[in-house]
Amino acid sequence: MTILTSPSQEILLLEPVFHQKIWGGRTMAHTFGYDLPQGKIGECWAIAGHEHGTSVVRSGAYKGRTVRELWNNERELFGFLPGDTFPLLVKILDARDDLSVQVHPDDAYARLHENGSLGKRECWYVLDADPGTKITVGQKAKSASEFRERVERGEWDELLGQVDIHPGDFFAIEPGCVHAIQGGTLVLETQQSSDVTYRVYDYDRTDDEGNTRELHLEQALDVIDYKMEAPTSGEITAPEVDGITKLMSCPNFDVIRVRSTGDKSVTLDQDHPFVCCSVISGAGQVTTDFETAAVTAGDHLLVSAQANKVTFGGDMELICSWPPRA
Ligand code: ZN
Repeated sequence: MTILTSPSQEILLLEPVFHQKIWGGRTMAHTFGYDLPQGKIGECWAIAGHEHGTSVVRSGAYKGRTVRELWNNERELFGFLPGDTFPLLVKILDARDDLSVQVHPDDAYARLHENGSLGKRECWYVLDADPGTKITVGQKAKSASEFRERVERGEWDELLGQVDIHPGDFFAIEPGCVHAIQGGTLVLETQQSSDVTYRVYDYDRTDDEGNTRELHLEQALDVIDYKMEAPTSGEITAPEVDGITKLMSCPNFDVIRVRSTGDKSVTLDQDHPFVCCSVISGAGQVTTDFETAAVTAGDHLLVSAQANKVTFGGDMELICSWPPRA
């Protein structure tokens, strides 16, 4: 191991930001030991540089600085990847109640209709699920007019697809895919850094004042992909090779699961602009060419472009992701 010669060689350990949601809970306080703010906490924005929430570096030379600000001013950390916004967003969602049925646009639609925002492709690694829990994914209408008619008739149960979920499942949710996480689910979500959601159905729920949440049916009808074959199972079929399981590779990001044991560490070639790492169980060490950081479940970190290799040691499981090179 060499001595750090530049702050940009540091492993960036991050402090998440938490968001209250009507469907949220307190699960993350005991699962990950987070010091949660009051209320129903639905979302932990673990690795984020979005205008609606950005993680903060918790130690080292960049301590106290946000990912959003580092993206704007220290682009060498991110391999000089071009772009207006830090491109990825890693969240943990604690759904104690059902999320609204929703759909997200792709980049082209969002750029045109949402002020130049990114579209939203997302994927879920299921950290925990109560027995018998399902998710809503996919829909059966063949056209916008059929979808509209079935919505007007309130045929939600027939219209929407339902899939059983289990801890360790993985789902890729493409733009245009109708979906909803249901209560009893804890997931790690990797997505494009976008907050554009078109709500299709909210189960006619009302808040304490009797208000319903806004729906966006017209935009949803525009962006639903009526030909899409939605996932029918979350079972991971990709093989684990030397502790690494490739979960998803798409134009926006790659996602892998890493499993290291005390006897067998896992090494990843770091030839990406940066790598997002979230420890989902266990504890161990993350080592780059320059330094080692001790980590435990619930820790999130960024490995910068400066590192050539990352090694994960100890008994732990992580979800890691990175964007493509420009
Ligand atoms: Zn979504």
